[in-house]
Amino acid sequence: MKDLANLLFPNLKVTREELEKKYPRRNLENGQMVTRFAPSPTGFVHLGSLYTSFICSTFAKQTNGVFYLRIEDTDQVRKVDNGIEGIINDLKTFQIEFDEGESIGGIYAPYTQSQRKEIYQAFIKSLIEEGKAYPCFLTQEEINEIRANQETNKERLGIYGKYAKYRNYSLDDIKKMIDDNIPYVIRFKSEGDFNKTIEVKDCIKGKIKFPENDMDVIIMKSDGLPTYHFAHVVDDYLMHTTHVIRGDEWLSSLPIHIQLFQSLHIKAPKYAHISPLTKKDGATVRKLSKRYDSECALVYYDQSGIPKDALKIYFATLMNPNFEPFYMSSKQSKIEDYKFEFSKMPVGGTLFDLNKLLSISKIYLSRLSNVQIYNEMLTYYQKYDKSFYDILVNNEDISLAALNIERTGKRPRKDFSIYSDMKKELWYFYDELFDLHSVYENVEIKNTYINQFLQDYFNNYYSSCDNHDEWYEKVKLCAQKYGYASEVKEYKENPSKYIGHIGDACECIRVAVTTSLKTPDLYEVLKVLGKERILTRVNMFLKKIS
Ligand code: GLU
Repeated sequence: MKDLANLLFPNLKVTREELEKKYPRRNLENGQMVTRFAPSPTGFVHLGSLYTSFICSTFAKQTNGVFYLRIEDTDQVRKVDNGIEGIINDLKTFQIEFDEGESIGGIYAPYTQSQRKEIYQAFIKSLIEEGKAYPCFLTQEEINEIRANQETNKERLGIYGKYAKYRNYSLDDIKKMIDDNIPYVIRFKSEGDFNKTIEVKDCIKGKIKFPENDMDVIIMKSDGLPTYHFAHVVDDYLMHTTHVIRGDEWLSSLPIHIQLFQSLHIKAPKYAHISPLTKKDGATVRKLSKRYDSECALVYYDQSGIPKDALKIYFATLMNPNFEPFYMSSKQSKIEDYKFEFSKMPVGGTLFDLNKLLSISKIYLSRLSNVQIYNEMLTYYQKYDKSFYDILVNNEDISLAALNIERTGKRPRKDFSIYSDMKKELWYFYDELFDLHSVYENVEIKNTYINQFLQDYFNNYYSSCDNHDEWYEKVKLCAQKYGYASEVKEYKENPSKYIGHIGDACECIRVAVTTSLKTPDLYEVLKVLGKERILTRVNMFLKKIS
């Protein structure tokens, strides 16, 4: 077998033993997890992979462990240009931070699989030396033929048992084929028996029984690079991953992976297979699809101005349902302070509900300070609406004051969920926008004395020095003069006696200065606008309605 190994890998510069020395064990304390995010650079990060990276990072962080980035690019055909950069940028935008990895560095480098060819080959060589792997010269036509036969005979598909034609080829025959430059792959020589069962423990799904793997899977392709199966086994071993957290599309390959670890005489890490994100589509629930669902692309969140941290908080609620009550229970609740458990993670599909995300986002935004929101708005509008960005920059004071309305009290306002809506909510604070929009449409003014009421109120009653109660008393006093009931109850008891109630009087004021029927606390809005601006607007309003 040594001869075969040397025939196949005559010029390898490293051995498995040397590599094991080069990449020593990590100095971990009990319970510290080493996790990794291992994307293939086949495009950009999508929602599902962002969710996976969030889970991997959360578990590592909460145990003060290590989280690293490994690029799995052994499938050179599926690789796209700038794929690696795209992934790193996407993760950066969402502040998924790595301790080690591609573009970051670390003692287990290189962290990109295509740069680790020799490392895998050293391990494959060691398997061949032990008679656990062999070169296979089956052509695509032969494989197609085997498959067609298997289909006709209703047999399991794949290369195993009698179909593994090159398993026991002699060294001389192999040498001849290699001298003739016949392309080959390396297959694992499985000792498994399909009729036997193995039981594996998944951290999320619990104990699962599988038939043993008896397939001679490919471990090295004809280009000399390993397949995913083999590469991840070697990497997770040499990089000392404690928990492989990955999508559950890999669950069915687990028997192969466990078998590969055993054949290399190494202990497999723990596995945690995450259920996919799903979506309601009419009456059915299906996997979120990169192709059909716009919310699968991360750019969707950026363009809509969905706060990135709100998405992470939603991810946390999807990870462990108990996180939500924890988050709601206190303004101070943070992801870092919650202890996530694999056993509480969903076993089946995980419904991703955009409306739920938005309602979480409202809560999240209600907990930010005016300065934090202002800064986030600057980032968003600089990218997506430069003219509003300029307005925000030129009106910092009024923006901060407007954002502070009903923010600091016990029950802060929860009417924003996305940054892209903020302009619609705040535009009337800015003269630049107010002039353009002040059309006072759709407002039914009930008071024939509106003109007198507003003039009288602002000239003789309104004072920016009043506190909220004083202010309200004065609105009432003035409103009464023009036929408004000062209590809603009074009005309801005797509607014919009044032209409306205090709420209607406030509505006149509100519409006159903002054009809008719905604003946050009117007292605060007036304060932010200031008397000068208010009087200009009232005049504009009165001209419009006269
Ligand atoms: N490269 C694999 C994928 O993108 C990673 C699976 C894993 O985390 O091991 O699906």
